[in-house]
Amino acid sequence: MHDRYAKDTDLLTFINGAKERHHWEFIYQFRKRDQCQRMAQAFTTMSLKPTALDYIYRPLGMLIMEAMIDQDKTGQYLSPWAFNCTLLEELLVEDRFESYLEYLHSFDAFCLRKIQERVVVHLSVSEGFGKWREELLGEVIEKMAAAVGQTAQGISGVLSNTKLLLEKLCLTLELDGDVEVPRDTLDSPLFSITTEWDRFVSCLLETLAELRLTLAKEFSQNIEVTKLLRVLPLKPQDCLFHKVRGCEKRCPFCKAPCAVQDTEHKEHRARLHRPKGLLSYTCDNSCSLSHMSCPADIAQDNLFANKDTESKPLAYRDYRTIFPDWSIPPEEPGNQTLCAYWRYVMVRFNERFAEEYKQKPANLPEEWEKITHEEALESLKELREKASDFMTLSSG
Ligand SMILES: [Zn+2]
Ligand SMILES: [Zn+2]
Repeated sequence: MHDRYAKDTDLLTFINGAKERHHWEFIYQFRKRDQCQRMAQAFTTMSLKPTALDYIYRPLGMLIMEAMIDQDKTGQYLSPWAFNCTLLEELLVEDRFESYLEYLHSFDAFCLRKIQERVVVHLSVSEGFGKWREELLGEVIEKMAAAVGQTAQGISGVLSNTKLLLEKLCLTLELDGDVEVPRDTLDSPLFSITTEWDRFVSCLLETLAELRLTLAKEFSQNIEVTKLLRVLPLKPQDCLFHKVRGCEKRCPFCKAPCAVQDTEHKEHRARLHRPKGLLSYTCDNSCSLSHMSCPADIAQDNLFANKDTESKPLAYRDYRTIFPDWSIPPEEPGNQTLCAYWRYVMVRFNERFAEEYKQKPANLPEEWEKITHEEALESLKELREKASDFMTLSSG
């Protein structure tokens, strides 16, 4: 009887002891698991998520630009001159004085604004953005999972410092993924702890899968195009602007953009000089706006004086003595069509320009008044078609 009691007591003690061991073992395992999860989540949030977003968003600016060029049927992005002609056509259709002012005085800003408008229109109708984002998300998560697998190879058991392995993981990812992984956060004491690598790897793969789901959900939400554009490190409007900007030199007299396309050119030429009154220049000894264009001034042997000539009069035809890298052929007599565009604009907004510049309106030749909207548009089309031989001209 006594023996039996003693055995039962031993058993009870054993059972209670085992319960307690299980209890502490459970708490230990739970804490370890909890610690691994926290570490995996922190690493994912601080290093993997920004890397994934960078991988997804970095190429989009260029992809959007290429799609816009591919889908454009007008050929406006084929050269700086083609784009300039399209802008001039749009100005004619828009028929708004303020837009002409912006074009004449802030050409680059005007181009950039017009390009941005085109990007917004493109993104509001195109499905490319969403499709690429989804594809790139799948790609980058796969690369990350593969890098985790690669880093984990040949490692098992307890690690005294997780940071070293995470650094190795970052390096593997950078080698394979063409990305840069932010890793300053690895200096946090959170990562300098003992952990079981197997357990940590499975937590990391779980948080990667969660990251994929979270981003896919974020991407599926409708967001304003302008907000989307803000997150792109390389903006499509900047890529496109760079492509259609061309030579940045402007005519020293009328500020018309140089239209020579050859990137190595040494001699600048504007395709379409404009009446100088449009830029606020007045006739000599008068306060009425000048209707003369640079080629006409050269042909008529007129004089000019400005800060480049130290205010001394110089014949236009001698302009190369102070602007040696410019070529401005004199106007050919009787050739009206080339200038129809700006002549039409000058007639249309003569009073408004005079008011804007606080001068008197230009005294315009009678035949300018007869130029129609269609003729102005036609002259532009002609210029655009004839431009291909011109645009590759260089000083040789
Ligand atoms: Zn000019
Ligand atoms: Zn040039």
